[in-house]
Amino acid sequence: MTDTSCEQSTRPLDQVLGQPVVTILTRADEVELGDAVDSPAGIIRVREIVQRPQYWTLAGDPPGQAFHVAFHPKGESPAPRTQVIHRRNSTIRVRRGVSHFGRLTGHSKHVTSHNPVKRGMYTLVDGYNSACSCGWKSSTVHKSKHRAGEAWLGHKAGQLTESTYAANSALLLIATAEVVHPQLPPAPWYFTNITSGSRHGHGIATADLRDLPADQARAVLAAWRQVPGLTVDEAYSWDRDEGAGGIVHTLRGPRRRLADMRLSLDGERGERLILQAAYETDLTAEEVAASKAPGLDSGPDW
Ligand SMILES: [Zn+2]
Repeated sequence: MTDTSCEQSTRPLDQVLGQPVVTILTRADEVELGDAVDSPAGIIRVREIVQRPQYWTLAGDPPGQAFHVAFHPKGESPAPRTQVIHRRNSTIRVRRGVSHFGRLTGHSKHVTSHNPVKRGMYTLVDGYNSACSCGWKSSTVHKSKHRAGEAWLGHKAGQLTESTYAANSALLLIATAEVVHPQLPPAPWYFTNITSGSRHGHGIATADLRDLPADQARAVLAAWRQVPGLTVDEAYSWDRDEGAGGIVHTLRGPRRRLADMRLSLDGERGERLILQAAYETDLTAEEVAASKAPGLDSGPDW
C-alpha cells in the first residue's frame, strides 16, 4: 500500500529522464508506463497499471528508484511501493518527457553559431545561440549545438506546461503553492472544470486521501488549511469523528462510518480545492440484522 517514508532517494524527474519534463492533464486510462503521477507519497513513476472496468490502479516508486525491475516468473519482483486508484475517466496531472511530444505550432528551433570567425579553411565559433520562432531567446551562449538544442527543448516543455496550467486554474494554484510552500504534503489530485454559474471555466482539484491513515489525512487537510490566500468554505468542510457518523449505505451494503473529513478551499480567482477522506468498517452480524428496516426489501446482497 501507500508508503510515505521513501522520499530520501527521490531525484528530480528531469534528471532521471535526462530531458525537460512537460506537465499535462490527461485521463487516468491514458497514463503510460514511465509517466509520473501524483500520489499521497509524492510523485511516483508508474511501472504497473491495473485496469478494471471503472477504476485504474497506477503504481510506482519515486523518480530515481529502480524502474526497470528484473522479471521473476515466480512473483518475486518487488512490488511498487505506492499506488493510487482513480476512476478511469478522471483527469489527472501527468509529467512526461518532452521527447514524447511532436511539433508545437508556432515554435521551431533556431540554433546558430555565436560570433563565428573565419580563419582560412575553417571557422571558429564561440559557442551556440538558441532561439525559437516565437521570439524566445536563450539568455546564455551554449558550449555545443546539442546543449543549445536542449535549451530550446526546455522552452518547448515550458510552453506545453503553461498551456496545461491555462486549461485548469486549480492546477495552476496547486503548482504555485507547491513552489512557494515546498513542505506542503502531496495529494492524489484529480481535476474538473466548473461548467455553469458565476464560476464557469474555473478549475476544481479534488483529492481523496482514504488510502492514508485518518491521522495522516487529517494532517494533510490541516497543512492545506494554512496556505495563505485560500479561504475555507466552512459550510462544506467538516471532520466528523468516530461514533458521530453511524451507519452509511454503500455499494457494499450498510457499513459503520468511522471518520469523515472534508476541506473545501476557495482560491482568490474562483479556483476550488477539495480534500476529503471517509473511513468505514463492516457491520457485525447483529448490526446488519438491526439495520434492516422491517417491511423494506434490503436489496441484493453484495
Ligand atoms: Zn517558442
